[in-house]
Order: sequence, then C-alpha cells, then structure tokens
Amino acid sequence: MTLLSRQHGPHPYFGVRDDQLVVAGKTIEAIAASIGRTPFYVYDRAAIAARIAELRDVLPTRVDLHYAIKANPMPEVVQFIAPLVDGLDVASGRELTLALTTDHSRADISFAGPGKSTAELDQAAAAGIVVNAESTRELHYLASVAERSGTKPRVAIRVNPDFELKTSGMKMSGGPKQFGIDAEQVPQALEEMRSLPLEFFGFHIFSGSQNLRHESIAESQRNALDLAVKLAAHAPGPVRMLNIGGGFGIPYFPGDRRLDLAPIKANLAAVAADAAQRLPDAQLMIELGRYIVGEAGLYVCRILDRKVSRGQVFLVVDGGLHHHLAASGNFGQVIRKNYPVVIANRVNAEPREVANVVGPLCTPLDLLADRMDLARAEPGDLVAVMQSGAYGLTASPLGFLSHPAPSEVLL
Ligand SMILES: *Cc1c(COP(=O)(O)O)cnc(C)c1O
Repeated sequence: MTLLSRQHGPHPYFGVRDDQLVVAGKTIEAIAASIGRTPFYVYDRAAIAARIAELRDVLPTRVDLHYAIKANPMPEVVQFIAPLVDGLDVASGRELTLALTTDHSRADISFAGPGKSTAELDQAAAAGIVVNAESTRELHYLASVAERSGTKPRVAIRVNPDFELKTSGMKMSGGPKQFGIDAEQVPQALEEMRSLPLEFFGFHIFSGSQNLRHESIAESQRNALDLAVKLAAHAPGPVRMLNIGGGFGIPYFPGDRRLDLAPIKANLAAVAADAAQRLPDAQLMIELGRYIVGEAGLYVCRILDRKVSRGQVFLVVDGGLHHHLAASGNFGQVIRKNYPVVIANRVNAEPREVANVVGPLCTPLDLLADRMDLARAEPGDLVAVMQSGAYGLTASPLGFLSHPAPSEVLL
C-alpha cells in the first residue's frame, strides 16, 4: 500500500484503516461526519509537531527555526506552531496582527515583502518587530516614522543575492528581482543607514522555495554566510541576525525524491561553526513554511456525479481550483502534474480505473486529477488531495464562481 504515490512510498503521517484514510486516529468518513459538510481542509497537529521535531534534530542550537505564516495562516495552526518555533515571519499587516497574538518577543517576528504599505510599516515600527527592508524607500520611511514617534525601528536588510538557489521550484533571487536590495547596492544602503535613526539588525538572504536537492540548499546556505560576511564590513553595527533562507521542499509529483536532511544537518553544523568565528554576534535562522505544514494537511471533497465522456471517466466533485489552486496545477506549474489524490473512503479497493477528478467550475482548468489510477468511485465517495497543508486555501481564488468556502479544521 502506498498512499502518497507509487514513487514516493508511504505517507509519513497518514494511515489507512478499514480501507479509509486515517488522520489523527480518525477515519475520513468520521471526520467528514463531524464537520458536517464537504469540502474541507484538515490539518494534523501531531504531524506538524513531528515535522518540527525532525527539523530540531537537523538544526544546530545556534540556528533558529522560524515559521513563515503565509504557508498556512489558519489562526489555530499559527497558535499551535508558535510555541514550537523560535520566531514567525509575516508578509502582510494582517499576518503581523496574527503573529502579535502569540507569545513571541517582538524581536523574533520579522516582516518581509517587496511592497510594504506605509500603514504596514507604521504598524511594524509601532510593534517593534524586525522589518526586512527591501528598498531604500522603506529605510527612509521607517526613519521618518522614528523621527515622528521617537522609536528606533529594528531593521534588517533583505538582500537580493548575486547567487541563486539552483533547481528551486520558485526562484526568488539572483538576477533582476523585485525582492530585496541587490547585493551590489547594499553597501550604499548601509552607508545611508548610518545617519538614520534605525537599529541595524542584520541580513535576510532568502533565495527560493520548494527545493528537493540538498546540495543546492547547502550551497545557498554557505553562500548566504559568505555574502553576509562581505556586507558586514559596510554595516553601521554588528550583525545580530542572519537569516540564511529556507526553501526546503516536499515531494508532490511522480519522480520527486524526498529531501535528504542528513547532508543539510552536516552543512548547517559547519556553517554555524564558521559563523561563530566570522559573525560572532549573529543569531542564525532559517525560515520555513511549506516544509513545516505541507505534508500535514489534506483537502477533501465529495463526488457529486460520475460521467463517462467519449471513453473517459469524470468524477465531478464539490470542490476544486477555487479552494485549491495549486492542486489544479495553476499556481506556478509550467507543465501540469497531478498532486497525489486518493479515493479516501476506499483507498485500495478493487476494481481500479483511470479517472479524471474535476470540480464544479465552468472551466477545464478546474481539474484535480488528470487520468489517474484510482479505486472505482461513485457519487458520495470522498476524494482526498494529499500534500495540501501549505499554500492551499489562502493561495486560491475563493471568490471565483461564488461557491461557498471550504471548512478548515486542525485535529
Ligand atoms: C514564501 C516565503 C517563505 C516560505 O517559503 P516556503 O517555501 O513555504 O518554506 C519564507 N521566507 C520568505 C521571505 C518568503 O517569501
């Protein structure tokens, strides 16, 4: 029995009982009955905790772990994760408001994003969190806030490095990018900071997302330290914080190999030891979203109709791309591939058939499974999309076609 897919082997957190998918000890039918409606997202807190424990084993004590809220901002999820990590990264004023409801100290909350509004910068300065400044406009605006209010905003410089995270699912650095300040312009920005009433905190060097190759991640972590050491020579004060990125990926598609953490652990130990010599005041950190929550969640919908069109089976479900854009293949995929999908209440049942799973929207893009091998299913059966804990609901165009929103539960 392989739940995730034939290539990936068994799912790390979810099992099968009576041929039903089991989450947090409950069968999928029991979960659906207790929610009272479909579709829904379900997240497993034990899975999230297990994943964080695994990460703690990989990170040297000198490297902190931050959670990037945008991966899954459900308030219960954020509240559950908050005490298990060392800090939170936010990407908007609303995410900041959520982060401020946790017990984290303000210095352990940071705000990145290329288009922070003046209202968001005001909020960040008033809260006393660390702003990862992405332009000199942000530096000067924060300085004007400081002059008005008498506070001294904490500022790190987000650097657009002169290297990229190779083989990354989503490149966010190297070359021309909207993120951060180009590495070659950072010395000038640091020079300007000397005369501004800002508290220099350090550097944020994030280079990409969804990477499954440990060599690339290790290389970008080493490069981030080298770059920070070079830039530190121009800094108005000691580097107290160095965010060396994240980007750990999870397997989604046939052929994806699970990220091997052992070499990352060895590399991080070396990077941390090196940093202790070269940037003795710096607290290192990595920030992860997807890796913490992605495998701990499912999206579940119910089959409404079963149709055969010119020889192909279509299972029409009550959910789709409006709730889970990424699973439809329209959130950054170049060539559409299937997320792992199962008939959740008859996972291994025979007979099997090749079927399409489509949503209720009036567009052929509303596709959750393209000709997949599934147990033969009927209206009333449940379909589960695995690997759906990150970039699911809040990364989807919920308003499109005005269907109701799905439920969300943390078990
Ligand atoms: C999106 C983002 C993250 C989280 O990325 P994951 O791939 O979910 O781990 C972390 N930091 C920054 C700056 C981001 O933009």
